[in-house]
Amino acid sequence: MASIFSKIVAGEIPCHKVAEDEEFFAFLDINPVSAGHTLVIPKTEIDYIFDIDDSVLGRMMAFAKRVAQAQEKVIPCKRVGLAVMGLEVPHAHIHLIPIQKESDMYFGGEKMQVSQEELADLAMRLRAAFK
Ligand code: AMP
Repeated sequence: MASIFSKIVAGEIPCHKVAEDEEFFAFLDINPVSAGHTLVIPKTEIDYIFDIDDSVLGRMMAFAKRVAQAQEKVIPCKRVGLAVMGLEVPHAHIHLIPIQKESDMYFGGEKMQVSQEELADLAMRLRAAFK
């Protein structure tokens, strides 16, 4: 069965898209730990990130770098933090999180409450900044 993220790539489930190329897709996390929390995924479904072929993984990181550069332009932050867990969704993904301090990347606490309108506006600004 297709993962929820494959359904997002296929357009069967809505998302707030940030960027896309032939191989990769980036969209806002629906339950952000900090403003601008974005997920980067390979379009080809694979569960565990370290099962990804080396060359694909390299290109995925280069794509994530371009997304992070867009986040740096749009969201005031000291830098963009990166995390990989994959305990909830079995489709490899990189969390890219704009941070001011270490606790901005805390996954165990309350998630932010962000309206669909705010997410849509943020995604639009990130898409415009993505090069
Ligand atoms: P994990 O698999 O533990 O790395 O976490 C999965 C992440 O995917 C969580 O941060 C969720 O909030 C996020 N997530 C799950 N479903 C969606 C969705 N439909 N759209 C955007 N983000 C999602």
